[in-house]
Amino acid sequence: MSFKDLGLAPYLLETISKREFEKPTRIQEEAIPVILKGQDVLGIAPTGSGKTAAYVLPLLQNLNRTTKTRDRQIKILVLVPTRELAVQVENVFRTLSEHVRFPFKSMAVFGGASINPQMKGMSRVNVLVATPGRLLELTESNAIRFDDLETLVLDEADKMLNLGFKKEMDRIFELLPPRRQNLLFSATLSLQVQSIERVLLKRPAIVKIEPVKETIELINQLGYAVAPEKKGPLLRHLIRSNDWKQVLVFTSSVYQADLVADKLRKNGINAQATHSKKSQGKRRATLADFIAGDLTVLVSTDLLSRGIDITYLPVVINYELPRSPKDFVHRIGRTGRAENPGDAITFVTEEDQHHFGVIQKKMKHQVPMIDADTLDLK
Ligand code: AMP
Repeated sequence: MSFKDLGLAPYLLETISKREFEKPTRIQEEAIPVILKGQDVLGIAPTGSGKTAAYVLPLLQNLNRTTKTRDRQIKILVLVPTRELAVQVENVFRTLSEHVRFPFKSMAVFGGASINPQMKGMSRVNVLVATPGRLLELTESNAIRFDDLETLVLDEADKMLNLGFKKEMDRIFELLPPRRQNLLFSATLSLQVQSIERVLLKRPAIVKIEPVKETIELINQLGYAVAPEKKGPLLRHLIRSNDWKQVLVFTSSVYQADLVADKLRKNGINAQATHSKKSQGKRRATLADFIAGDLTVLVSTDLLSRGIDITYLPVVINYELPRSPKDFVHRIGRTGRAENPGDAITFVTEEDQHHFGVIQKKMKHQVPMIDADTLDLK
């Protein structure tokens, strides 16, 4: 199937061909036609499945139907859990709207940044991507209105609920006009997500992409049995001997993230840590450097992992195991994105062995192991 078969307009097809998307991903195949028809959608799909373009493309086309744009009146509202995701989703709207022939202005708003520029920038915005808390602040100061709202999108709804945004979300739903299209995307269909889904969606088309199997199969996984004190030398050995240029390393704490990045730098490897204790500006700059290829190693905690969206990420390393198998799949899932295979390497100490066994069982995938003691580590 091609993008053309999905009923997308020529100005969008032109943009897609420039982005070198050869063919639609599964969620795009299934979701684009129903969103174009104005139907509600429940999309159970992980990051990496191409879900953002799956709603951005048809929504851009639907926006074309009503060109009239009133000031401060939002037509499409996308709620997301994190600042990083807000910036990325807005970026997808901006890049995919390159050839639209109607007034279009998108904006990302999120907490942790000054509210004034966001308020001022709101003029003529018709697509708003927002984290729930900041959106409420903006509505309270009358910076935006929703009378013309056509579509509400909840992206990574499970994450939003896990972060405790339920109350804010309910308050936002009350502010919106009842007649609207609702799209809900979530990696999992948890009970909490189901409770929102029931009140929000009307006869939705359900699009379910099996996350674990599909993603896992795209990834070359390897484990290293390693003593805790050998992790640093092993990491450096792997980076140097493979001549890796872009490596994402996960740790389970902010403290470890800083420590690992410091140690790499001391050994002449270009590395930075990113985590919740770093300022918003610093996080953004570090991620931009990493995406641009100016930073070899990005060390991150799980909290930020969902926001990191890179088309092709060749290597992910679990320096420490995450507690939940779901987080493990999420971490390594970023190397097997949109049909690009990558390597996922996991450091396993003796203490981790049982937990790693549980993760493999949940993943239904056995990871081959190498004993780090057999390597010549400096
Ligand atoms: P997402 O699941 O929205 O986070 O998308 C994951 C990545 O896949 C993004 O970097 C997109 O640019 C990329 N992508 C989206 N759709 C396609 C497609 N049809 N073909 C190739 N890559 C795509």
